[in-house]
Amino acid sequence: MTLHEGIYNFSSGPACLPLSVLEDIKKDIPDWHSGMSVMEVSHRSESFLSLKNRVETSIKQLLNIPDDFCILLMHGGARMQFSAIGLNLFYQESVVNFLITGHWSHDAFQEASKYVSCHVAAHAEQNGYTMIPPYSDSDMSEQSKFLYYTDNETIHGIEFLAPPRTRLGLIADMTSSILTKKIDFEQHDLIYASAQKNLGIAGVTLVIVRKSLLGQAHPLTPSVLNYKITAEKGSLYNTPPVFAIYVLDLILEWVKTNGGLPACSDMANRRSNMLYNMIDNSHFYQNKVSVEVRSRMNVPFSLPSPALESKFVLEAEQQGLMFLKGHRAVGGCRASLYNAMPEAGVAKLVTFMQQFESQNK
Ligand SMILES: *Cc1c(COP(=O)(O)O)cnc(C)c1O
Repeated sequence: MTLHEGIYNFSSGPACLPLSVLEDIKKDIPDWHSGMSVMEVSHRSESFLSLKNRVETSIKQLLNIPDDFCILLMHGGARMQFSAIGLNLFYQESVVNFLITGHWSHDAFQEASKYVSCHVAAHAEQNGYTMIPPYSDSDMSEQSKFLYYTDNETIHGIEFLAPPRTRLGLIADMTSSILTKKIDFEQHDLIYASAQKNLGIAGVTLVIVRKSLLGQAHPLTPSVLNYKITAEKGSLYNTPPVFAIYVLDLILEWVKTNGGLPACSDMANRRSNMLYNMIDNSHFYQNKVSVEVRSRMNVPFSLPSPALESKFVLEAEQQGLMFLKGHRAVGGCRASLYNAMPEAGVAKLVTFMQQFESQNK
C-alpha cells in the first residue's frame, strides 16, 4: 500500500497534494540539507535562498511573466491581500470597479470599501449566482483605472474562462485557479493567490504586481504588507513561511515534470468535463451554473433533497471520497478538482455517483 491508496480528497482548501510531493516532504522532514530539517534552516542561508530563487524563476517561467512585474511571496493568505491591495493600490484612487460573481469577490469588495469607494459594475446576486451578468465599460466608473474580479469563485463554482473585457487594468484573485490557465499580463496589473489550493499549503501567498504601481502605499501601511518594501527585500523583510515556500517549490517542480501549464490546463478541462457530463446526463444531480462560466476547479451540485445529500456525503466518505459537502453558505455538495487531483479520483467519484443515483432515485 502506498500512502493514501484509494482515498481522494475533494476539499476546497486546504486541498489535496500530489502523492509524490507528500513522499518528498516525508523524506526531507528530518534531513533536508546537511542533517537539518528545512524548518530549522535560516531563511538567509544559501540553501534556502537558492530554493527561493528557484521558486521565483519557476513561477516566472511557468506563467510567462514579463520583466515589468515583480513576484512577491507574502504572509497572511488571500484575505490579507484584500487589505494589502486596498492599502498599496486603492487608497489614492477616487473609485475602483468590482465584478461581484460570488462569495470571494463580495468579501474582497467589502474589505476594499474601507479604503476606497467601490463601484459594483455587475453583481451576480440578481441571477442567483448562476452566471456572470452582462457588463461593459459603460457600466464602469470612468474615474477608475482598475477593475477587480475573482477569477474562480471557489464556493459558487463560477469561473472567468477568459478575462473580463475592459480597457481598465485588471486585479484578479486567482487563489483557486492559478496554474491552470495562461494569464494575460498586458491586461492585468496584479494577480494573487494563497497557496493552499493549487500551490501547496497554507502560509504563503503569491502576489504578481506591475512594478510601476509600487511606491504609492498609504503611509500607515504596515511594512509587512507593503509591496515596495517586500519587493526591495526579496520577500525577506521578515522571516518568510519557509516550510510553505519549500512545499511551493516541490509543487512547481511537480508541475514542470508533468507538462507545465498546458498540461494542467488540459487536465483541468478533462477532470471537470467528466464530472459535468455525468451531472448533465442525470436528473438526480444538478449544477445550476451556466455552462459557459462553469468552474473547472470547483463543481457544486445538489441532489433531490438535503437528506439525500447528507447520505451521499456519508456513503462517499466510506468509499474514500472525502470532503464532498458543499460550503455552508450555499449547501448541497461540491467537488474540488485542483491540479493535484488525479483523473482516477474523478473516475471513482463518477462511478460512485452513478451507483448512488441508481440506489436512491
Ligand atoms: C480560499 C479563497 C480565499 C481565501 O483564502 P485565505 O488564504 O484563506 O485567505 C480567497 N479567495 C478565493 C478565490 C479563495 O478560493
